Amino acid sequence: MSQMTLLRVSVLALGVAACWEGARDAPFAAAPRQIPPPPFSGTIFIDPDIITAADPTTFQSLTAKGQGLRTMFDRRVNNWIQVQAYLFDVTFSDGLATEVQVNPEFSSSSSAQVEAEKYATVIGRLPKALRTNVATVWIHKGVQPFGGGNNNLLIHVGQAALYENDGILEETFVHEAAHTSLDAAHAGSPGWIAAQTTDGTFISTYARDNPTREDIAESFLPYLAIRYRSGRITPALANTILQTIPNRIAYFDALALNMLPIQ
Ligand SMILES: [Zn+2]
Repeated sequence: MSQMTLLRVSVLALGVAACWEGARDAPFAAAPRQIPPPPFSGTIFIDPDIITAADPTTFQSLTAKGQGLRTMFDRRVNNWIQVQAYLFDVTFSDGLATEVQVNPEFSSSSSAQVEAEKYATVIGRLPKALRTNVATVWIHKGVQPFGGGNNNLLIHVGQAALYENDGILEETFVHEAAHTSLDAAHAGSPGWIAAQTTDGTFISTYARDNPTREDIAESFLPYLAIRYRSGRITPALANTILQTIPNRIAYFDALALNMLPIQ
């Protein structure tokens, strides 16, 4: 009995002490809210099987148009170049079309066509919503990062070989095409900003460090994975995605994007 009384007194004393501490802190600014750390460094690496070479493609036709003067971005010189590119009109079975522009360093129309057809086939595996604004595709040699935006997808084939070895060529295109077709309408939209705020963290450090430029692209592949490829990823990975960006997932859901040929 006396022990119990003692315990009650101790608890009471602790409670009073805590209140007093709070009162003392009140005049000062609140400590910054701790942002939970992003679970990934970059999301193109989270799983190589989200889209694979065995998945269907909407690529339908490729027509060689000869060579023509085009302005392309080349990461090897980190600048725009003007070249007599090998040109190919590509159509997809869902009505979309793009012009593939191949750097003349590939030295023959036939070798350029091999590259154009290869990447058109891969790009055709992307959801329609991500191909919508892909007006052109640039293909260069070299080991340099891919690029999105500019109504374009930028490819350096040396880098593509590395992505293929890791099984993440399609996953990387999802990231880049999200830049091309989703950033302009959504990266700065009030709904997206609100989702970022409510989630309170980012899916990757790359998104966290570039919140206006990379967050849509970094979040979309994980979204595709949990909504359309849950059978191909581990439950642990699915859970991490769902726990980290639930409001961004809800944002993408509400867009009701055309995801074909992925379903
Ligand atoms: Zn990016």
